[in-house]
Amino acid sequence: MTPPLLTALSAPATADRPDALTIAGRSCSREELLGAAGAVASRIAGADSVAVRAEPALETVVAVVGALLAGVPVVPLPPDAGPAERDHVLRDSGASLVLGEDEPVDLRARAAWSGPEPDPKATAFVLYTSGTTGAPKGALIPRGAIAAGLDGLAEAWQWTAEDTLVHGLPLFHVHGLVLGVLGALRTGCRLVHTGRPTPQAYAAAGGSLYFGVPTVWSRVVREPSAARALAGARLLVSGSAALPAPVFRDLEALTGARPVERYGMTETLITVSARADGERRPGAVGVPLPGVRTRLAAVSGGIGELEVTGPTLFTGYLGRPEATAAAHTDDGWFRTGDIATIEEDGTHRIVGRASTDLIKSGGYRIGAGEVENALLDHPAVSEAAVVGVPHDDLGQEIVAYVVADGVGERELIDFVASHLSVHKRPRRIRFLDALPRNAMGKPQKKLLPPL
Ligand code: ATP
Ligand code: MG
Repeated sequence: MTPPLLTALSAPATADRPDALTIAGRSCSREELLGAAGAVASRIAGADSVAVRAEPALETVVAVVGALLAGVPVVPLPPDAGPAERDHVLRDSGASLVLGEDEPVDLRARAAWSGPEPDPKATAFVLYTSGTTGAPKGALIPRGAIAAGLDGLAEAWQWTAEDTLVHGLPLFHVHGLVLGVLGALRTGCRLVHTGRPTPQAYAAAGGSLYFGVPTVWSRVVREPSAARALAGARLLVSGSAALPAPVFRDLEALTGARPVERYGMTETLITVSARADGERRPGAVGVPLPGVRTRLAAVSGGIGELEVTGPTLFTGYLGRPEATAAAHTDDGWFRTGDIATIEEDGTHRIVGRASTDLIKSGGYRIGAGEVENALLDHPAVSEAAVVGVPHDDLGQEIVAYVVADGVGERELIDFVASHLSVHKRPRRIRFLDALPRNAMGKPQKKLLPPL
């Protein structure tokens, strides 16, 4: 039996400490957090939903925990959202009150909360997807999914109250908020949120468990002294996008430990992960978490679309019944839209998104990620995004956008041709100053400039 969300959140910590939570340099104890969250809960109880301006600050955690106590669905609002994104989230979710804007959140307020535990099927969050492939969609995340997902991760990562979790990720997506805040509260571990995810801040935090997105880890390996300071950590975890194989290898070389990669989505929470006691290989995201089942659809050449089912799934997209139906199979599994392979020992590899990362060229199917990794192996290349563009003869032509210093198009094309099969080489290279990325550091292929 998975203990309910609220019980774990409001349980007195076995050993409370004044710095149980530190965010951007300010700290509080669990008792202070719960007292202030109780005051929020008493104020908003009965509301249909509430938005929270998700600044990296203790007040954000107070607001989120307060709403969870009261059973009011939370809509995290990116603090730096431009007017269009903000309007979209507020209008789409229907949240009329923004905690942290319309109403201040006071860390010093205190109220005991003794409301009942809401049903595990009740919505805890309306979480917006990253908007990598289109307008962000509001995923309804039930309380039970969060409880089950976090307990599965705790088991897979041997994550306990003894840990100190360190990260500096945004508090409006699954990674930073659900794993990075609620995970710490549920396991009872200490949390140090660094405000921003810089290599120096990670190095100074002295954690046992670190979360990062691939852009964070690639910055860390470019600062060897910061990377070496992480050598004592128990687990370095990467997710939200594919961790390039060269970054995996550099992290291992500098810290002595292989990073743990995990895979998930807003709609499913984390479903597949390397385990603390398992194998960790570059390009592999590990095995399904407890209770999660996976399968591949439309397999050809060993790869197919990944489908998942289990206790961590969302209940639907807010106000989008057609999109919800289209995302599920007849037998109720969720279609991830990601292309994967599953090895004989159960290890999963994510090839990429069916919509952008599977290139069909000259009768071959080529995963963009493999070509990106080959380009990143060139010492002059720091970022790479590979796409297929329509081509009369080939169907699609492989085009690479790279950020590089002192290397030409011909040399890079030949470099890839000599590392991979010749048909996987890009036919054209476009040099950019930086790749377009979102707040999670995910390359936004739809925003790449036309050739
Ligand atoms: P949108 O759905 O709005 O287009 P998004 O899919 O980027 O945006 P998220 O739910 O934040 O929104 O991200 C989930 C996606 O991130 C997955 O479908 C997958 O493509 C990618 N992803 C997450 N973890 C990994 C990983 N370890 N390796 C490769 N891809 C990953
Ligand atoms: Mg998505």
